[in-house]
Amino acid sequence: MAGSKRKGLLVLISGPSGVGKGTIVANLLAGRQDCIKSVSATTRLPRTGETEGQSYFFISREKFREWAEQELFLEWDEHFGNCYGTPRQFVEEQQQAGKHVILEIDVVGAQRVMQKNPDAVGIFILPPSMSVLRERLLSRGTETAEQVQNRLERLEKELSYIDSYSYAVVNDDLETAVGQVNEIFNAEMLKTKRLRRDGFIGDLLSN
Ligand code: ADP
Ligand code: 5GP
Repeated sequence: MAGSKRKGLLVLISGPSGVGKGTIVANLLAGRQDCIKSVSATTRLPRTGETEGQSYFFISREKFREWAEQELFLEWDEHFGNCYGTPRQFVEEQQQAGKHVILEIDVVGAQRVMQKNPDAVGIFILPPSMSVLRERLLSRGTETAEQVQNRLERLEKELSYIDSYSYAVVNDDLETAVGQVNEIFNAEMLKTKRLRRDGFIGDLLSN
C-alpha cells in the first residue's frame, strides 16, 4: 500500500474531566509510534506534576490573545475562567508527515474542528457511572471539592454532543478501553475514502 504517502488521522478525544482521557492517550502513545498528541496552549496555572510543553504550553493571557489574533489556533475556547487553544501548525505538519494527531479537546472545541475538518474522527470517552467519575476526580486530587462539583455538573451538557462523535468508549477497565481505541485507529485507516484520498486507488491502477 502507498504507505509513505498516507496522511495521518486527526482524532478528537472528548469526555468529562476525570474520565481518563489523559490516561488512555498516554497508554496509546506508549504502544504506537504512528501517533502523536497535540499539546494545547492554556492560560491556567500548571498543576503539580504538569510540565511545560508536554502537558500544555502555559502562556499569559496577553500572549494567548496575540496567538488568537494571528490565527495560530485551529480552535480555542474558555473553560472555568481560563483559555485553551490548539496550535494549528503542529497538527497540520504532523498529519502531512503521516502521524495520527490526537486532540484531547472539549465538546465545543471538537465541534469547531469537525466543522473545519469533516474527516476528523471523534471518540467520546464515557465513565461507567457518575460515582466512578466522582471517585476518579477526587482520587486525582488536583481540584478542590467545588471544582470537582463544577466538572461533574458539566457532564449533562457534554453528553448532549455525543451524537456528533463516531465512537463511544466506556473507560471501565483501562486495558479494554485502550484496546478499543487502538481498534478504532486501525479501522479508520482502512476506510475506503481514505484509501482513495491517499492515492492508493490511483497507484493500484497504474502498477
Ligand atoms: P482526564 O484526562 O479525562 O481528565 P485522567 O486521565 O486524569 O482524566 O484520569 C483521572 C483519574 O482516573 C486519574 O487518577 C487516573 O489515574 C484514573 N483513571 C483513569 N482511567 C482509569 C481506569 N480505567 N480505572 C481506574 N482509574 C482510572
Ligand atoms: P484541564 O484544566 O482539566 O486540563 O482542562 C479543562 C478543559 O479544557 C477540558 O475539558 C479539556 O478537554 C479542555 N481543553 C484542553 N485543551 C483544549 C484546547 O486546546 N481547546 C479546547 N477548546 N479545550 C481544551
